[in-house]
Amino acid sequence: MTRRVVIIGTGMGGLTAALRLAQQGLNVRVIEARKEAGGLASAFEKDGFVFDAGPYILLDRPGLEWAFRSLGLELSDRVTLRRIEDVYEVFSSEGATVHFYADEERTAAGMEAEWPGSGQRYQRFVAEMREAHQQLSPLLTVSHPGPASLFHNRAFTRIPFLLRSLGSVLKRANLPQPVVDAIAIWTQIAGQPIDEAPSPLAFVPALIHSVGAFYPVEGIGTIPRTLARAAEEAGVEFQYGTTVRSIVAHDGRVRGVETNQDEIISADAVVSNYNGIGTYLEMLADTPARAREKLKMLPLQSPGACAYLAVRGEIEPPYLRFQLPQNGELCRLLVTPAVVAPELERNGWAPARLISPMKYESAERLSLAQQREHLDRLLAESWWRKSFNEVRVLHTRVPSEWGAQYGLYQNSMNPVMTSRFMRAGRLAHRSPHARGLYLAGSSTHPGQWVSFCAISGILAANDLLEDMN
Ligand SMILES: Cc1cc2nc3c(=O)[nH]c(=O)nc-3n(C[C@H](O)[C@H](O)[C@H](O)COP(=O)(O)OP(=O)(O)OC[C@H]3O[C@@H](n4cnc5c(N)ncnc54)[C@H](O)[C@@H]3O)c2cc1C
Repeated sequence: MTRRVVIIGTGMGGLTAALRLAQQGLNVRVIEARKEAGGLASAFEKDGFVFDAGPYILLDRPGLEWAFRSLGLELSDRVTLRRIEDVYEVFSSEGATVHFYADEERTAAGMEAEWPGSGQRYQRFVAEMREAHQQLSPLLTVSHPGPASLFHNRAFTRIPFLLRSLGSVLKRANLPQPVVDAIAIWTQIAGQPIDEAPSPLAFVPALIHSVGAFYPVEGIGTIPRTLARAAEEAGVEFQYGTTVRSIVAHDGRVRGVETNQDEIISADAVVSNYNGIGTYLEMLADTPARAREKLKMLPLQSPGACAYLAVRGEIEPPYLRFQLPQNGELCRLLVTPAVVAPELERNGWAPARLISPMKYESAERLSLAQQREHLDRLLAESWWRKSFNEVRVLHTRVPSEWGAQYGLYQNSMNPVMTSRFMRAGRLAHRSPHARGLYLAGSSTHPGQWVSFCAISGILAANDLLEDMN
């Protein structure tokens, strides 16, 4: 008899899990609350421009390629990726600018000119991180890294590195403070203090200078679209506009799901691509009280505030411009996709995005109106408008709206990966609380990049297949 699986959600993790399971002959039905697939990685159209809702850069092309290959797909055949040459710059509050190019020498030369001696130290740091990444990256595609995976590539020699925070790794590199701030900018994006962020975030410069940073010419939304199409072709049944209210379980085993239309869909297994914490606290009645208490303690990440713009004027590189304000607030970011894909310009107008990461607790203290005021203040700042003659705000999203529109648990993207959480272990793909329940997506991986979520779906599906055989 064909086994039936219900998947909750069509984010990156839900899609890769669905496709993998259908390819293995299972009967897969995906229930999605929204009208389309892709979750946070989906795109939307406004005034003739296509915007990615959330993601704007691919920093882990090999990880995404691994996920595609696991599904018998070749990423480069399906998605036109453009390598970003002039990647990002960070203006610090002290007036310093740090600039990152794909070209490592050029990046180091810029630092050297500003802070003599720092160029060489930067290159030493990049070389060390490149080596650490090579040793550790195979662990990203293993569901439960154990002794065997740690011995592979001698990854165990990097355990001390993994136990440190990003702050401590960067301190040892002995780089000028503006360079440290610029490398650590990705932790600000997650609303995390540098001393709580996990050490692998130090890999980003090494990735930019080796495999490269990429932007798909038609936007990141093409990635989930491609996966959804392949899943449909493989026989996955998609049910849009339906929300799963609860996971039905008896005697510690999953039996199916109940939807907001009072339908009970029976299944031999359920893969939840909804936030892992939300899955256990809201959907599964069987989650033990102790586990609930622990889950409630996990730090959450806000999607922040975002303005989707049409701009007219000089579209100049770099692709990403970060601004570190003087008042100690988190950074702001201007994204101009036309730097990488000039064909996005229409009649002199180009799409752009202004992004303001927010600390989860700060965002949650604000009402919807106050969150919008925060974004209005950002829009009123002058730094990002300098090279534009005209700006139109086509759409905005603040944390409460992200939460309502993308089905986010407590308006959060996921449990943010801190160095402490990483040491304690991430949420497992195979649920310890109900047999036949699996988690896929950003909750189960050390990071929230689309590549990690895609990998997570494959690993959840593999655990499920192993249990069924
Ligand atoms: C502003 C922003 C910027 C980002 N920038 C980047 C970037 O530059 N690079 C990068 O790699 N990543 C980036 N990310 C992160 C990345 O987009 C996400 O981590 C990733 O897309 C999440 O995938 P997921 O599999 O966890 O599922 P999600 O995208 O969370 O999707 C879950 C799906 O489940 C559905 N769902 C939820 N509950 C239910 C229910 N009860 N019933 C039915 N359906 C349900 C939702 O509607 C949704 O479609 C960014 C995210 C944001 C918000």
